[in-house]
Amino acid sequence: MTQLRWLSAGELILASNNKGKIAEFENLFQDLNLPIDVIPQGKLNIPDAIEDGLSFIENAILKARHASKLSGKPAIADDSGLCVPLLGGAPGIYSARYAGHHGNDDANNQKLLEALTPYRQTNTPIEGMFVCVLAFVEHADDPLPQVFQGTWHGEILPEIRGENGFGYDPLFWLPELQKTSAELSKADKNKISHRGQAMQKFRESLK
Ligand code: IMP
Repeated sequence: MTQLRWLSAGELILASNNKGKIAEFENLFQDLNLPIDVIPQGKLNIPDAIEDGLSFIENAILKARHASKLSGKPAIADDSGLCVPLLGGAPGIYSARYAGHHGNDDANNQKLLEALTPYRQTNTPIEGMFVCVLAFVEHADDPLPQVFQGTWHGEILPEIRGENGFGYDPLFWLPELQKTSAELSKADKNKISHRGQAMQKFRESLK
């Protein structure tokens, strides 16, 4: 159980500078209705942490510690990405910088399409999975970070489709909905996404 005394800090730092994620978190935290202000780290001029972990969990924890250290407040970080089993889990923790430059969504999508070209066969879907790990720390040296994980399974399309969302959303096909995640509204995506699932677990830890 997350200790709730941290709520008295008045503010929770959201350790991300990714606009797409922040927009989704705004809705997710509104639903949680916590008696606390959730502040994206950019508002405090906190730069991105150096992500040198080898897993989503390591990177989520180091991002949360970094934001908490520089703000003196409790922090929650999201480390997330797309894993394609055919590519050995790539782009994985390197999802944001897959094509070299951090956060260039078009270049990342293009690189993914090219990497998958040799595997394309008619009628054989290529599986992919979005992963989100949330790490919460009460303070920078917290010996017991709380970790919440969500995974979202879909397929990778051979071309982009849809205007909403960010990152790999236009390539992430949901066969049961016959839509990409870029064709979902933010509210609908949050109900089922990797991030929505991880936030649901965070919510349950507050009960
Ligand atoms: P991070 O900021 O280091 O965690 O990297 C996250 C990257 O993973 C983003 O820049 C996207 O490329 C990808 N990603 C994570 N979540 C999503 C999502 O919900 N939709 C699309 N791409 C995502």
